[in-house]
Amino acid sequence: MRKGTNKGGSNGRPNRGRSTAAEKERADAPFQKNEEVTVEIIGLTHDGEGVGRANGFTLFIQGALPGERVRAKVMKVKKQYGYARLVELLEKSADRQEAPCDIFKECGGCQLQHLDYAAQLAWKRQHVVDNLVRIGKLNVAGEGDADALGAEGIVVHPTVGMDKPWRYRNKASVPIGTHNASGELIAGFYARGSHRIIDMDDCLIEHEHNDEVVRVVKRIGRELGVTPYDEETGRGVLRHVMARTGVVTGEIMVVLITNVKKLPSADRWIERIREELPGVKSIVQNVNSRETNVIFGDETRTLWGSDVIYDELDGIRFAISARSFYQVNPVQTVELYRRAVEYAGLTGNEDVIDAYCGIGTISLFLARKAGRVYGVEIVPEAIEDAARNAELNGIENASFEAGPAEVVIPRWREEGITADVIVVDPPRKGCDPALLDTILKMQPKRVVYVSCNPSTLARDLRVLEDGGYKTVEVTPVDMFPHTTHVESVALLVRRDNVSVDLIIDPQVITT
Ligand code: SAH
Repeated sequence: MRKGTNKGGSNGRPNRGRSTAAEKERADAPFQKNEEVTVEIIGLTHDGEGVGRANGFTLFIQGALPGERVRAKVMKVKKQYGYARLVELLEKSADRQEAPCDIFKECGGCQLQHLDYAAQLAWKRQHVVDNLVRIGKLNVAGEGDADALGAEGIVVHPTVGMDKPWRYRNKASVPIGTHNASGELIAGFYARGSHRIIDMDDCLIEHEHNDEVVRVVKRIGRELGVTPYDEETGRGVLRHVMARTGVVTGEIMVVLITNVKKLPSADRWIERIREELPGVKSIVQNVNSRETNVIFGDETRTLWGSDVIYDELDGIRFAISARSFYQVNPVQTVELYRRAVEYAGLTGNEDVIDAYCGIGTISLFLARKAGRVYGVEIVPEAIEDAARNAELNGIENASFEAGPAEVVIPRWREEGITADVIVVDPPRKGCDPALLDTILKMQPKRVVYVSCNPSTLARDLRVLEDGGYKTVEVTPVDMFPHTTHVESVALLVRRDNVSVDLIIDPQVITT
């Protein structure tokens, strides 16, 4: 026996009572790999997997829904939990529906198409509530002991849904690859949990224009014999196609993300795209030759047409450049921003700070009702767009600065800028602690928190609550139907500014 290297009993000999962690986990679990079991499903994870319980053990099962009883084959066993594959539905949930998309099971883009839309909305609200309670340790009206304790809970409204929750996305970023068998250029989505590309011509959550752009780029790529980028070798020309449509204006931008600086046959590309897509206003190339999952590289140039396309939200016009963040669901964006403005409680005189402002979208909605708006954002191109957008709409009471919110806003404070309202709309990781600290020092009457991640929302609300604010109400808005993403907007008030509580409508505490 080799000395010191034998970690377990794999050679059949005893190993003086020691076993590997993995072996111990398997021994403790009530199931073995490949065993078929009957499981009751009691919940959904934030990734949309069914959470099952069998013999007191937790099994995660893709495709199973709460309330169902299923047969499943155990695939992986850990100490506390395992993963199993759905084999048969023994009892179906009344909320189950046939997923309308043919590639739903393979594609990683949507997670909830098998769940009725009303049930998706209810799940999203409950997901927000659960995060507020578990992570934020907050009292939510109608939940747990909040009412029994006489504590005034946060009102979490029903999720604002869409009348037609399909074809809502204004932007598609689609990887280009090679079909394994035919060697043909394909474009589609990564299969769930992998980087295998599934060819796709039609995506039911995409605007039709964007699907058309992807089909056209695929066709031209094949005609011109373009080589798709290969992640393994780092070779090939075309990596991604990004399509963006101004849903109100109908303007289309096509971005070809290439692995090489010079796009071969660039003139033919331009000619053919213009022939096939009469609505195109902008054709852009972005160069990304790095080995990375990040889609965009640093170099962007316009091959033809304008550097930007325009879109409109609630009568405000926005110029959007290839690299700027712009919300993907314009119908629901208007719903979200209207609530953010309502929560800001503006009368026309207030000084408002919009942190993480992107191209100034929320800032300009606020500026129509405020005295003065200060926007801050880390991407310089987005700040250029924001300033241009204010001018485009004749809005003179908004100004913008590029930089990290957690650095710029403390400096504004030192320079004597005050805020009646601070709006934040951070990325998934939530607000920087230095920003939360500055908010507590600036003492605005209200804080409006727009969030795309309920767990960091809950964490940050706890900090603000501990610093003297009270969370009054939260509205989830369904920006991403059929996916597990949950957007919400929260209103906080300074505890010594209580009259604001009166704006709650007690009718709305339903699921
Ligand atoms: N409010 C905008 C953008 C929200 S997305 C809208 O609704 O369109 C979040 C934005 O935060 C992105 O534009 C991102 O570039 C920006 N961002 C990320 N980290 C930042 C930081 N530390 N300081 C300021 N902005 C930041």
